[in-house]
Amino acid sequence: MSFKGIAASDGIAIAKVFRLEEPNLTVDPHEITDVDAEIVRFEEAIKKTVVDLEAIKIKAAANLGEEEAMVFDAHINMVNDPEIREQTLAKVKEGLVNVAWAFDSVANGFVAMFEAMDDEYFRERAADIKDIKKRMLSHLLGVPLNDPSTINEEVVVVAYDLTPSDTAQLNRNFVKGFATNIGGRTSHSAIMARSLEIPAIVGMGTILEDTTDGQLIILDGLDGVIIPDPTDAQIAEYEAKIADFKAMKEELKKLKDEPTITKDGHRVELAANIGTPEDAKGATANGAEGVGLYRTEFLYMDRNELPTEEEQFVAYKEVLEEMKDKPVIVRTLDIGGDKELPYLQLPHEMNPFLGYRALRICLDRKDLFRTQLRALLRASVYGKLYVMFPMVAVLNEFRDAKQALLEAKAELIAEGIEVSEDIQIGMMVEIPSAAVLADQFAKEVDFFSIGTNDLIQYSMAADRMSEKVAYLYQPYNPSILRLIKMVIDASHKEGKWTGMCGEMGGDTMAIPLLLGMGLDEFSMSASSILAARKQIGNLSKKEMEEMAEKALNMSTVEEVMALVEASAK
Ligand code: PEP
Ligand code: MG
Repeated sequence: MSFKGIAASDGIAIAKVFRLEEPNLTVDPHEITDVDAEIVRFEEAIKKTVVDLEAIKIKAAANLGEEEAMVFDAHINMVNDPEIREQTLAKVKEGLVNVAWAFDSVANGFVAMFEAMDDEYFRERAADIKDIKKRMLSHLLGVPLNDPSTINEEVVVVAYDLTPSDTAQLNRNFVKGFATNIGGRTSHSAIMARSLEIPAIVGMGTILEDTTDGQLIILDGLDGVIIPDPTDAQIAEYEAKIADFKAMKEELKKLKDEPTITKDGHRVELAANIGTPEDAKGATANGAEGVGLYRTEFLYMDRNELPTEEEQFVAYKEVLEEMKDKPVIVRTLDIGGDKELPYLQLPHEMNPFLGYRALRICLDRKDLFRTQLRALLRASVYGKLYVMFPMVAVLNEFRDAKQALLEAKAELIAEGIEVSEDIQIGMMVEIPSAAVLADQFAKEVDFFSIGTNDLIQYSMAADRMSEKVAYLYQPYNPSILRLIKMVIDASHKEGKWTGMCGEMGGDTMAIPLLLGMGLDEFSMSASSILAARKQIGNLSKKEMEEMAEKALNMSTVEEVMALVEASAK
């Protein structure tokens, strides 16, 4: 027996399952007779919660720094808060109800009170109370929290879904792979798995229900297959597969410092997509010729307030210095969609991917945008910075964003701060309106980078997160290929260049077509770069041009795939 899903990150893991499940902490009221016993349970839950928080504080101090860890002191104070304690015990004594329910309703009252306040500081306290409530209830109800930060042995994490911030917290030393019920290849947890080089399968349907904690499984991220309770023979077979995979990776390492040139002498650039300054090291280690997309939004996540100009400056400088004279395309904040930022209190929308996100927020919240642009410009003197705006739908958005950048630059120069004079300003083409009008945009930008993850979902009206409509998520559909071709041609006509930073740019099936259509730069997960360099080295640009021409005139994705497969043989 085996389970199948969408292969999201290469590699194979053989380990025990760790189910990461939102615990059921709902409590109903019921009558009690022994008030003293309830009080004892309450006092014990408080003690255990404080012990948990002390341990988390120590870990946070080591991983994130003393200042970040201080928030847990505040949590410990809240657990011991006399007001909450008195109100809870009064409810138990007067109403003869179970303490778990009494505490839950008192805590909910405080959450509601804080959430209703205008002051952002108090609204954040509501989140703190929710957090300690969860820990207290887990002790009062005896329901474990399954905290991924407590993992201390090799496991495969199995979850309904992982948010990008859950994924960022996975400890690579212990988490050997993950599998989720929902998600597609371009959901951000899948993208992050590839940068972390953790084997992963998404869109598995019911893998959380199909596995149990501690069960041994094989996760094959190459084929998107999970084998539960493998036999000795299967383990041996997969151990051999792991050895082959490692050997193949070693062989590719030889291409690390080589340029990327086709058989007939055409050169292209292979760059890496990164999410953190740490990832930049992976980019250089994997032979990237630049950073084609630095997703800065990860800098804004897993914290309680916006990062300061100084914090951002430090991060951008680190990436620019790591990449030395190689281009680093930094994308301005692209929050929204599947990337949430609770402290910004964004409105809840019916269609978050079509809503208030990315540049739309930045042009509305100029304060926030200005901070990022200043940090970027200050860092620009430490390397070769290119700035890119996400989610541009109309020309005026690009103009306004560029204007904000130029204003921030003038401001810094007036302050006597040095800024590079050599910054290219470009945009992502990920909304069909921009692709269709690329000839007009091309007159004003320095470069395009095609964001196929979004471009495909918007063109096909198929949510990139939904495994149910994954069949419509067709990168090689002639309609998508024509949009891409229009963008590349439009840029070349104006003497500009086009890259691609969507996941399609690193897809072995797409690379021959993109090469044939004249793409200048391919940006992908660092772990895909060397294989792409090898593949391109075996292709002829001229032959790929002929193939792309045929593909652009086909009518279905199946025909295109058959064409590419035939040519690969
Ligand atoms: C894209 O949309 O293709 C892209 C690269 O951006 P993101 O995946 O972060 O939305
Ligand atoms: Mg996008």
